[in-house]
Amino acid sequence: MPQSTPPAVVVGAGIGGLTTALLLARQGRAVTLLERRTTLEEAGAGIQLSPNASRVLVALGLAPALTRQAVTPDELVVRSLSSGRRLATMPLGETMRARFGAPYWVIHRADLHTLLLDAARGEPNIRMAVGRKVTGVTVDGDKARLAVETAGGASEEREAGLVVGADGIWSSVRPALGDARKPVYRGYAAWRATIPAGEAPEEMAGNITGLWLGRGMHLVHYPVSRGRLINIVLVARAEGSVSEWNSKAHEADVARHLARAVPALSALADRSLDWRVWSLFDLPPPRPWGLGPVTLLGDAAHPVLPFLAQGGALAIEDAAVLADTLAGEPNDVPAALRAYEAARQPRAVHVQQAARENGRVYHMAAPLSLMRNLVMSRLSGEAMLARYAWLYGWEPPQRRDARLSAA
Ligand SMILES: Cc1cc2nc3c(=O)[nH]c(=O)nc-3n(C[C@H](O)[C@H](O)[C@H](O)COP(=O)(O)OP(=O)(O)OC[C@H]3O[C@@H](n4cnc5c(N)ncnc54)[C@H](O)[C@@H]3O)c2cc1C
Repeated sequence: MPQSTPPAVVVGAGIGGLTTALLLARQGRAVTLLERRTTLEEAGAGIQLSPNASRVLVALGLAPALTRQAVTPDELVVRSLSSGRRLATMPLGETMRARFGAPYWVIHRADLHTLLLDAARGEPNIRMAVGRKVTGVTVDGDKARLAVETAGGASEEREAGLVVGADGIWSSVRPALGDARKPVYRGYAAWRATIPAGEAPEEMAGNITGLWLGRGMHLVHYPVSRGRLINIVLVARAEGSVSEWNSKAHEADVARHLARAVPALSALADRSLDWRVWSLFDLPPPRPWGLGPVTLLGDAAHPVLPFLAQGGALAIEDAAVLADTLAGEPNDVPAALRAYEAARQPRAVHVQQAARENGRVYHMAAPLSLMRNLVMSRLSGEAMLARYAWLYGWEPPQRRDARLSAA
């Protein structure tokens, strides 16, 4: 990489920021990661990594660490939340890997975050600066100035020729680019908890991802922590939004929703699980989504409802495309950033819309739900998988180009 290549400042050491830092550092670019937190703890919850995301992490050399920590469920089992009837099955595991060329993993967020952090800490081109909250960004030609507040209350200013705002849904970089919109609350909350596998109801046992569909709500579960824990996510209508991310939930809310489920699930409300609650928001990507040497990535650019389990995956995809466009235009950062944004806009909007639509289908009431169940029960596992080919078959540009030129 030429000497004049500007170092990068990545704001936010979440999934998107860490993946971006790793990819840019591997290209020989110096990267400073600014993270507002001083301790990088992740919520006690799981995350699904579909092949479109896992292939980027595999290309980063993280497969051995991921294979040690993640679980590869054999299948997705869809059931009715109120009757327990099995509605459909979709193969995951080896079928998914064979079809899309990369694994479908489920993993505890803390494990994913730790292995990304370990990789970043082992990278000489990455400098991690924690306890640094970016409070403002101004653009002056091909330079950006960042106002930073330290955990101790001091103010710092930094200048950079490349800034990536990967600071999540409540991004401070996004409004600094002139986007005054706030994420839109979509009337749902997600309650999450983990339960030791040995204490989980029989219906949740086995190496599966479970999806239970009910009127106005659904529940997902899958094993994490090498199968020691089962991660549970309950999504249901919620009147108001909670401002705090990862707040402690009111057990009465969980019990009220679970009361409509089969006894095995409703009994979860009687267990002393540490339920946490997330209000669910999304927001179409800003236009423009970047300015001069500044761009956005992941939830900062396009927060997405979790009904397709794709927010983290999109952030990882963004990172791969950004690294590719910067490699193509190493000395013209604004041109590379605009190319990245143009490439990502349609995909992000498509996934956001598909996630909203998935929520609508998951939460249907009778009689529409009866039609849905009938259609699902007639689909083979292969046919179910084929419906997601547009999503899981995504490849980073470098890989796609190499495959096409070899053909
Ligand atoms: C219930 C639920 C289930 C989900 N399940 C899945 C799933 O299965 N699969 C999937 O792919 N996605 C899933 N998601 C979405 C996924 O969690 C997010 O999309 C993903 O974490 C976004 O990553 P990010 O790096 O863009 O942002 P974040 O993970 O939010 O990281 C942002 C980072 O920036 C830091 N930061 C914030 N502001 C500042 C600032 N001003 N200065 C410096 N640092 C700052 C934060 O501390 C944080 O470390 C789910 C989401 C929810 C709510």
